[in-house]
Amino acid sequence: MSELPDRRLLLVHAHPDDESIGNGATMARYVAEGAHVTLVTCTLGEEGEIIPPELAHLAADREDRLGQHRIGELAAAMRELGVVDHRFLGGAGRYRDSGMMGTPQNERPDCLWRTPVDDAAPHLVAVIREVRPQVLVTYDPNGGYGHPDHIRAHQIAMRAVDLSEDAAFRPDLGQPHSVAKVYWNCLPRSFVETALERLRAAHKPVPFPGIASVDDVPGLVADDVVSAAVDGSPYADRKAAAMRAHATQIAVDGPFFALSNDLGQPLPAREFYRLVRGTPGEPGTSGREEDLFAGLGV
Ligand SMILES: [Zn+2]
Repeated sequence: MSELPDRRLLLVHAHPDDESIGNGATMARYVAEGAHVTLVTCTLGEEGEIIPPELAHLAADREDRLGQHRIGELAAAMRELGVVDHRFLGGAGRYRDSGMMGTPQNERPDCLWRTPVDDAAPHLVAVIREVRPQVLVTYDPNGGYGHPDHIRAHQIAMRAVDLSEDAAFRPDLGQPHSVAKVYWNCLPRSFVETALERLRAAHKPVPFPGIASVDDVPGLVADDVVSAAVDGSPYADRKAAAMRAHATQIAVDGPFFALSNDLGQPLPAREFYRLVRGTPGEPGTSGREEDLFAGLGV
C-alpha cells in the first residue's frame, strides 16, 4: 500500500474503550502529525458492565445487545481521535468477550479465551502485511491486569509479529513484513501515585464515590522499565471526548474518569510504553523516548 503515509502505527486491543483509555492521546497525536493509525480490536466487549442505568437492558444477561451498541461507541470514539482505520479481528463479532477471569463466560466456545492463538493470529498477520506498520502497541503478557481477553490479545499480537515476517507463512496473506518496534502499554507507578495525590488535594469533593488507590490502577510498572513517554497534552480534550464516547463503560468528569467500580482515576494525557522489540531511539529531555518512531528514520 504505497499510498499510505510514511509513518504507520498499529494498536492491538481487547475491547472497545481500551484504546482510548490507554492510547487515546497517542493516537490523536499521530493522526494529527500525518501518520497512518490502525486499531484492531479483538472482541466487541459483550460482557462489559454497563454504567448508565437506562442502558442496563443491553447487558449480556438481559438482551445481550451490548456488543452491537459498543460498535457504535467505538466508531464515535475514533471520530474524536481522527482514526479512520479501525477493524475488529476477523470481522465484528468473530470472537466474543470472555468476561473476567474465572467466570462461566470463559467457557463459551466462541469466546476469545477459548480460541487458540494460532487460529486468531492469521487475521492479524493479514492486517500487518497490508498496513506494514513500523510500530505495534499492545499489552504486556498479563494483559495489564489479568483480563483473559487482554492476555489473549497480547499473545495474538506477539505471534502475529513473528508470523508476519516469516516468508514461508501463508503467502496468501501478503508480502512478509517485519515490525521494527513493539511496545507494551504501561504506567509508571510513581506517575500514578503523584497524579492521585494531586487529584486528592485539588478536587474536593470528588465527583465519584471515591478515588482509586494506586493498587486499583491496572498496568503499573517500576519506573525504570518504562522506555517511552508520549506527551499528548495538546490532545487531552480529544482523549477525554473519545473516552466519553464509550458511555456504557466510562464516566468522565473533569480530570477524572471512572469505570464500573466508580473509583475516580486521573485521566492523563501522557502515555507510557515499554519497548520490547527493536532499538530505542534518542531519548528526549524526559530521559525516555518521546516519539514511538524515534530512531526509525521515518
Ligand atoms: Zn479491556
